[in-house]
Amino acid sequence: MSLDLPLVRGRVDPSVALRESAAPVALVRAGEADVIVVDPAGFVLLDEAGARPSDAPTLRRLAGDEAVRVLEGTTASFIGVAGGRSVVAIETSRDEARGRWEHLRAVGWRLGGDDAALALTAVALAGWHATYRYCGRCGSPVSLESAGWAARCQACDRLEYPRQDPAIIVLVQDHDGRVLLAHNALWKPGFVSIIAGYVEAGESPDVTVAREVAEEVGIDIEAPTYVATQPWPFGRSQMMGYRARTALPRPTPQADGVEIEWARFYSREDLARALESGEISAPGRASIAYALLREWYGSDLPGGPEGTGRS
Ligand SMILES: [Zn+2]
Repeated sequence: MSLDLPLVRGRVDPSVALRESAAPVALVRAGEADVIVVDPAGFVLLDEAGARPSDAPTLRRLAGDEAVRVLEGTTASFIGVAGGRSVVAIETSRDEARGRWEHLRAVGWRLGGDDAALALTAVALAGWHATYRYCGRCGSPVSLESAGWAARCQACDRLEYPRQDPAIIVLVQDHDGRVLLAHNALWKPGFVSIIAGYVEAGESPDVTVAREVAEEVGIDIEAPTYVATQPWPFGRSQMMGYRARTALPRPTPQADGVEIEWARFYSREDLARALESGEISAPGRASIAYALLREWYGSDLPGGPEGTGRS
């Protein structure tokens, strides 16, 4: 079974040259771009529901006068070219543009075509625009350029780009093939996931994996294996997925009691029982945590298909 990363399905050509040459607002006014709408908190505007509940949701695309009207007073970014069309994202609040909004974390795995990849980029940029307002060197206001892909300080000219924070996430198994799941003190009761953490200054990701597992649950692992990476723009993380096996055959997790409240190993049967009874809930299907768990489990996890994750 291969790893399915829903948010990076589809193909968007970044068309970097267009970022520099074409203003997103001019593209929209000229009718030369499709317009999608996102909220910086990670919500995306969808077409009204299809006739059947099973119909895959699609991003709403505004055109003509409606697109120009919604554009007013918003930030517009050039996202790329998909299916031969330029795509511009408008950043606005859910109050300003009425319609069917859903959080990308919840709906992302169901988006077809290039929509997930478009939404991923649009939400990542919108989140950066909402938080990077002042120069990191001198504290003066910044203004956006390169169609939303750079921010220049108005006082000292410093340029900043929408970078991501490297983070690791690791599926740890003991020698019986049981998977380690942990509950973070900040999560809703019963929500569990695999171990994750940020790569610290001067650290390489392989080292982070071993450090995080040791710190959070007191377990030593053998050399971890890199699997795949998926951006996670709720925050601005670049999640690098790993697999690892415990050094001891059947170690007992010792939760750090601060970040991790409890942790334990689950066999496939244990996990199915705990999910079906509602004793625990698993990461949402758009996440790389779900993808790694699904691959380990051998099929979709039991329990409902929905799941928005940590909040
Ligand atoms: Zn500055």
